[in-house]
Amino acid sequence: MLIGGLQKFTFIDYPGKLACVVFLAGCNFRCPFCYNREIVLAQEIKKHPLISEREIFKFLKERKNLLEGVVITGGEPCLNKGLLGFIKKAKKLGYLVKIDTNGSFPEMLRYLIAQRLVDYVAMDIKASKEKYKEITGGRADLRHIERSVSLLKENRVDYEFRSTVAPTLLDKKDVLEIARWISGAKRYYLQNFRPEKTLNPKFEKIKPYSQNYLLKIQKSISPFFEICQLR
Ligand code: SF4
Repeated sequence: MLIGGLQKFTFIDYPGKLACVVFLAGCNFRCPFCYNREIVLAQEIKKHPLISEREIFKFLKERKNLLEGVVITGGEPCLNKGLLGFIKKAKKLGYLVKIDTNGSFPEMLRYLIAQRLVDYVAMDIKASKEKYKEITGGRADLRHIERSVSLLKENRVDYEFRSTVAPTLLDKKDVLEIARWISGAKRYYLQNFRPEKTLNPKFEKIKPYSQNYLLKIQKSISPFFEICQLR
């Protein structure tokens, strides 16, 4: 396991639960707006201080009466070979587990759900189908993404979809296309883009959309979902 970070406490990353966040290094995508370059790019990971699994579990044992959940994020957590063992150990301590994924590994996701190893899945929807490859740096296999979307919509685990709406990549029309594609999903969140230390430095100069613009998009796609909100 390449553990690139630990956020010891969060109210917001696991809906309704007090949790910590474990950041796993490595990602198969190259989204230009990504602000986790130090745990995404191989040359940056080499320079980044890693945390041992032993340290994480020492922390989890100490906090088990205080925290309810562990959020496993990335990078892309499903790339890490030790993921299953890590989750099993966290579950044994009584933690709920949420996983943040880019949806590239539907079989792993299916296994985690079938074995009840995850309690909540947040999956990024990076783009409309047409733009998926372009926005992920030519990396995404849309068939895998579609399989993960269908799997989550089977409702066997609590889940959400979410998209970062970055100017020059997505606009209202694109988000409407995404909404039609994943319509009927339980929850869909729109996140505004944050121009900070992005994977593609050009994005640090891009001005985010106004709250008003995002609210208009949210209003027009709300009928497609049980819950649709801005974050
Ligand atoms: S934003 Fe894209 S590149 Fe960054 S961690 Fe997520 S999937 Fe990987």
